Parts: sequence; C-alpha cells; structure tokens
Amino acid sequence: MTTHRSSLCCAAIFSALFAVASSAQSQKPAIQITADLSDAPRKLFHAEVDLPVTAGPLALTTPKWIPGQHMPAGAAGNIVGVVFTADGQPLAWRRDDVDLYQFHLTIPAGVTTLHAHLDCIVVANVSHKLAVLDWENLLLYPANVPVRDIPIQPSVIVPAGWAVGTALTPVGSGAYPVPATGSATHFAVTNVEQLQDSPVMTGLYFHEFVLAPEISPKHYIDVVSDLPEDSNLRPTVLAELSNLVREADALYRSHHYDQYHFLLTLSDAASGERTLEHGQSSENGFGEKSFSDDSRMLPDDSALPHEYTHSWCGKYRRPVGLYQPDFATAQQGALLWVYEGLTQYYGEVLTTRAGLMSPAQHRGVLALTAAYLDHTPGREWRTTEDTAIAASLLRNGSVPWANWRRGQDYYDDGQFIWLDADTLIRKTTNNQKSLDDFARIFLGQGGNTGPLIVPYTLDEVVRGMNQVIAYDWATFFRERLDKINLHIDLAGVERGGYKLVYADQPNPLEAALSGKETAYFTGTDEHGVNAWHSVGLIVSGDGSILDVRWNGPGDKAKIVPGAKIIAVNGRAYSGDVLRAGIRDAKGKPEPIQLMVQMDNLISTADIDYHDGERFPVLQRVEGTPDYLDDITRPLASPQPAQPKTTASKH
Ligand SMILES: [Zn+2]
Repeated sequence: MTTHRSSLCCAAIFSALFAVASSAQSQKPAIQITADLSDAPRKLFHAEVDLPVTAGPLALTTPKWIPGQHMPAGAAGNIVGVVFTADGQPLAWRRDDVDLYQFHLTIPAGVTTLHAHLDCIVVANVSHKLAVLDWENLLLYPANVPVRDIPIQPSVIVPAGWAVGTALTPVGSGAYPVPATGSATHFAVTNVEQLQDSPVMTGLYFHEFVLAPEISPKHYIDVVSDLPEDSNLRPTVLAELSNLVREADALYRSHHYDQYHFLLTLSDAASGERTLEHGQSSENGFGEKSFSDDSRMLPDDSALPHEYTHSWCGKYRRPVGLYQPDFATAQQGALLWVYEGLTQYYGEVLTTRAGLMSPAQHRGVLALTAAYLDHTPGREWRTTEDTAIAASLLRNGSVPWANWRRGQDYYDDGQFIWLDADTLIRKTTNNQKSLDDFARIFLGQGGNTGPLIVPYTLDEVVRGMNQVIAYDWATFFRERLDKINLHIDLAGVERGGYKLVYADQPNPLEAALSGKETAYFTGTDEHGVNAWHSVGLIVSGDGSILDVRWNGPGDKAKIVPGAKIIAVNGRAYSGDVLRAGIRDAKGKPEPIQLMVQMDNLISTADIDYHDGERFPVLQRVEGTPDYLDDITRPLASPQPAQPKTTASKH
C-alpha cells in the first residue's frame, strides 16, 4: 500500500526514504510546539502551536493510531479548548465528518503562520508531583503527509522546581534538567514521527543515574516519584539495571539510539496505562514503593527489560503492517507474535540474565503463564494469529468469560513459540547456536544506527532463522499460529529439560511472594485464590468471582462471572475456606457446596470436582540437557556497581 511496504530490500529502500526525508526536513520550516505542563497536577496540559501554512484549504490532524498501543488510542476526545488564529484574528474550523481526528480550515491570503492553542485533559500517568507527556496528546500537524517528513521544534514548560527527563536533545542556554521557573526548555528540531516517540517525564522529586558507564552510547535511568525518598534508587537496583544494559549489549551487539533513557515514574496516585516502549526511551510507571525493597513484584522488574527490548524488536525492526506513514492509517497486527512475543521472550530472558529474577523464578513465571494459556478454552475456536490480528479488539481490559474470548495471547503464546525455536536450534547444534544468533542477525541488521525504523515481513523472519540453521521455519511458524491448537506449545519447555506438572501445593514463587505474582497473572488481589486449574475459578479476597473457566467444573455448576461467594460448605467465605473445600472434596463423592450472590439474588451451586488443588510447576526431567538453564545464563560478566548520579532535585 505504501512505498516502505516492499518485502525486498526494505532497509535499503527505507534508508533512501530517510535520507530524502532528512534533507526535506532541513529545508522546510518547522512547526513550533510549546507544551505547557504547569497545570499537570490539575490533569491539564496546554499547547501553543505555530504551523507554517499557505493560503487555501488546510486539514490538520492529531494522531489516532499510536505506535505500541496496537489500537486507535489517540487523545482526540480529550483535546479541548481549540482556538486557531491567523495574524491575531480567530479562524473558524470544522471537524472532518469521517475522520474525527481532523480539523478543516481555510487559510486567508497572505497568512504564512497559523497559531493554534489547545488543551488536553490528562487521564493517565499524572499526579500532584509528576507527569509524563506523550506528545500525541498535544500534537497538531498537516494531515495526509508522512509524519517523518514534517519537521517540528518542541519546547516544554514544567511546574516550578520540577525537573525534566527525556531522550530529546536540549538546546539553548536554559538550565537543565531543572529549568528556571516559568521558562521554556527548548529541544532540537526533529520530525513528528520521532517527536511522538520521545515522551517527556517531569517531576518534583527527580534523580538521573548513568547505567553501565563503560558502554557506549550512554544509558540513563531518570526517576520521578510522589514521595521524596523513592526516586533515589538503591545501589542494588542500579547495579541490576546496569547488568541489564550489559546483557542487552552482549545479546544484540548493536543499538539503534543515540542515547537511551529509562523513564521511571513511582506513584500510587498516577493511573492508567503507564508502560510504553519507544526507540530511545521507555515509559515505566509503577507503585511508589515498587523498587524500595527486595519484595517487589517480578512483573515490575521484567517490564523494564521488556520495554527496553522493544528498542530493537518493535521500534528498529517493525512488522510492515505495524509501520504506517502516518498515525491515521490503521495498523495491522498479524505479526504481533514477533513484535510482542519475541519481546516477551527476551524481556524475561534478559531479566534473568541480569539478575533481576532468578532462574527458578523464571521457571515459576513460565509455569504460571503456560498453565493459564493451556486452560484457555477459547483456543477451541480462535487461532493464536487471530489474537494478533484482532489485537485492537482485545486490549480493552478484562471481561467475563475472557478465557472463552482469549486475550492478547500473541504475547505469551509467542513467547513459548520462540522458546520452542530456541531449544530446537540449541538441540540441533549441540548448543553451539541459539536464538541469540537470530536476534543478532535480525534485530541488529545493519549494525549500529541512530533512531530508525526498518520494516520486515514474515518471509524476512524465516530467512533470518534460516541463516542460523536450515529448517522449514515457515511451516514451523504457520503450524503454531494459523491452526487451531488446543494446547500451548510446550515443546520448548520439554526440550529444555522440564515438564509442566500440577502440584497440590502452590508454586514456590507464589508462596514466597504472598500471592502477588498470582494476583498479577490472574488479575485478582493478593488475598485472592487462583483455582483456575482445579474448579476453574479466579476469586478475589472478598469472594468476588473474576472469571469462570468455560466448560470447567464451576461453569458446569452454572456459576456466573461477577457473582460473589458467600459461603463454602456452610462456612463463611475466605480464601482459606475455599481452598480447604477444594482439598476436602478430593476423592469423595460429595460436591463442593457454594452459596453465591449475584446482584440481589442468593443461590447455591454444587461443584462436582474431586481432584484437589492443582498448582502449576516446571519439574526437571533428570538426565536431559537443561537448556532453560543455558538460556538464562548471563552472557556479560557482572561488574561491581558504580552508579553515578548525574543530576538530582530534592
Ligand atoms: Zn511490549
């Protein structure tokens, strides 16, 4: 459909396009945009935009399809207070009747600059002490023009005393990273495509640390927090994150950024989507105490490696269907099992290699993930590829019967397909080669570059795999993606030296972390019960049933998602009482008797289940090669922590 979507020599074609875009960018006057975040604590951003224009009809737009969101998630509905002026006179506008992200105007003769004021109601990632600006909340630019061809010069104003963290390059003589009160911080001219990919984080309590200082280019973690003590990360955390940078360097042996900034926001008040990948940075938002001690949640740890991996997988190399010339054209998700699945795989592998998670914890996470996917009855009707194609329909959070619908399984099904491929390569080559070789070939294509997008097709994935070992990879992938597969692909686990079994005690990972991991995987709270693999229920601490496994014992007892368990076998509900009820019914003829409330109706449900509690675990198969252990072994030698604070505020 567009010039960059050729399956041949995409990199070469793109490089030529990029060169043209760059020279065009230097000749065209740039849009000037000043984002005023002074009202961020009041959940409002403001922008003043000056656009070079010529007389006649003009269509301006805001972004609709946001890269990395895999759905039309632009902020048009929350962009308010829009006023256009030319030479000080207001100009009327009309929204496009079909594309609601577009504004139509007529520019009078003689006018060369159009001024726009707009506000954005901020619904995510903002608190009274910090904010993250995703530029799509304020961007306004000519419609129907490739966004990489539109030059733009950004500036920001932040609340008094707040500091700024971003991968954008500051220019001018202003104080940085803590600007003088009310003054704008100016950044170098870029293009709309890159600006959208370069968020600005700001906050009162700010620290910036250099990670792995011996590695070039420079890596930073910029941290803001609601409480003054939380942004000053502990040396242990900084040492682990430095190891992450070293492990990624040893794995990919290339980089595609001029500098990289992990942007970390620690807040219990900020809500909404808080993690997102970018080419030269990543948004990582967690609870305010997430990194304050060693009891933190593992998913919080693996999120940073995941978003960082996206700089290679998703940002530099991107499926053709997910790379459109503008943010108006629908993105096509069929290859999300590479974009997200391979990232999920290497995100967790790098987390373990860097020491943020132990190999045993990694196996625990794999067991929880595999078991849930294996008990997802939606596999009976929907292929894994369809979860990718339909991604934008599946990203709307949890719903009742989510297991019959299936979720965004291209992440985790993808992860297990890549584990299958990795162990296949290792076994075939007696561990002389691995998926790491593919990562270097495919994600490091062309060596080091600045921020750049090089699209790919499935054929190119297959060719890259064949450069590692000759195999019918096309069939390998198609069988796992295009077909109805009732079960998760466990070949990689089994070839890796383990098998998925169900124990009558919780996975040590679950027990050690007081259910927090289970809570993460199941969406319940810490006191909830994951009885998915036994009676087919996930229940929160207060007895609310979050979901019922389609065709499982709970479903057969006609239990409704959203109902609340009042009593189990005549005893008032608690998580322990439910678990005891499941254990006590083992091997006996009597059902587990529940009393449940749905709306204002109380009824009973008898669950005919007698196999006791079942908790997934990966069990070692002695006498077989332990490829899982090989996969998570560090590639780089850990180095003593020498974190250096480059800047801090408060
Ligand atoms: Zn991702």
